[in-house]
Amino acid sequence: MTFVVVGASLAGLRAVESARRTGYRGRIVLVGAEEHLPYDRPPLSKAFLDAGGPGRVEPFHPETVLRDELGVELMLGAPAEGLDTDARVVTVAGTAVHYDAVVIATGATARRLPGARTLRTAEDAVAVRAALDDGARTVVIGAGFIGSEVASAARKRGLPVTIVEAAAVPLVRAVGEAAGAELAGLHRAAGTELRLATEVTGVADEGVRLAGGEVVPADLVVAGIGAVPATGWLEGSGLTLHERDRGVVCDATLSAGPPGVYAAGDVAHVVNPLFDGEPMRLEHWTSAAEQGAAAARHALDPASARALEAVPYFWSDWYGHRIQFVGTPRADEVVSAGGVTLYRRGDRIVGALTVDRPREIMKYRRRVAARAAWAEALAFAGAA
Ligand code: FAD
Repeated sequence: MTFVVVGASLAGLRAVESARRTGYRGRIVLVGAEEHLPYDRPPLSKAFLDAGGPGRVEPFHPETVLRDELGVELMLGAPAEGLDTDARVVTVAGTAVHYDAVVIATGATARRLPGARTLRTAEDAVAVRAALDDGARTVVIGAGFIGSEVASAARKRGLPVTIVEAAAVPLVRAVGEAAGAELAGLHRAAGTELRLATEVTGVADEGVRLAGGEVVPADLVVAGIGAVPATGWLEGSGLTLHERDRGVVCDATLSAGPPGVYAAGDVAHVVNPLFDGEPMRLEHWTSAAEQGAAAARHALDPASARALEAVPYFWSDWYGHRIQFVGTPRADEVVSAGGVTLYRRGDRIVGALTVDRPREIMKYRRRVAARAAWAEALAFAGAA
């Protein structure tokens, strides 16, 4: 029996660990496009960018743990090139690797803008950090999490930063308009210049060119404009790829359709029964970890496959503040109550956002998971 995991990052690593935890003793092959052992991405836009930061990107586990303790065959620096679900073969660097079960965990790659840096990989982080070490005037394009964290890192060093964002508020897709408007205040209070509802037309040597012709001067330009599922290698495999972003479409058990084929993490569109069967492609650490572990269990023992009803959760750290969100921002009503922003769909709570209230957010997570009534959630927040 051979279990192949494609993508050697968080979801892939959790898949491998979970396979061994379930008692699976067969062959495991972990295929990764990057040369590195699996490493963690959230610190890349946080502690790693600090002047006194670690300076090195450490892997989750040393190679000996992966090879000797977990018994994993590593194929690193070797992108998978194709999947044949009839022959049950993954092609890696021209070699056919047979599988009995496979987890697709190839994540996403940063959307690029010519002339701008991105922040997705260890190499990206080293380059951004070097520019900050040189005292760069920084312009960030896109006020999402990663862009906001880069701005935060630059301000921590006292460097001038401008964020240019096409939407009217930061983070609108992730938290909605009202909460996004409040989060804008964190940027302004920290001295980050926000240029909202502003289109970028290009990046020139001297800086970022805006619609209208103005150039915002910059030594470092970082584009935080989203990520695209890494599924080019699956074109022609027969798997269903999402019509808009080409992520792998899965059912609620993470099955991608053909026998033995499951997907997990940033690459996967997963039906979530907790939110009316809404398919969700999350780019959140906790989802990637949970899905990686579950996908391995289901791939190795399909009879045990159960629908996942996970509550999406993410955090982000800006200017010393911790932003946390649970659930979905797709709501009928958004209310601020008792220092928490709550999201209603129908008569239940579907989401919550907090700033600097780490213990409270988990109480709302439990309520979202339990499909708690909106009135109860409001009363709990002290707003009823
Ligand atoms: P990825 O981490 O994208 O890994 C996929 C791996 O597959 C990559 O190594 C890639 O090279 C490899 N691959 C791609 N194609 C192939 C191929 N054809 N063959 C073999 N391998 C391939 N989430 C939070 O909730 N909170 C945070 O604060 C937070 N901060 C973040 C900060 C940064 C800078 C970044 C980039 C992400 C952050 N995230 C955060 C998101 C979180 O890190 C991701 O959700 C998580 O990394 C997803 O894991 P994954 O394994 O699904 O995909």
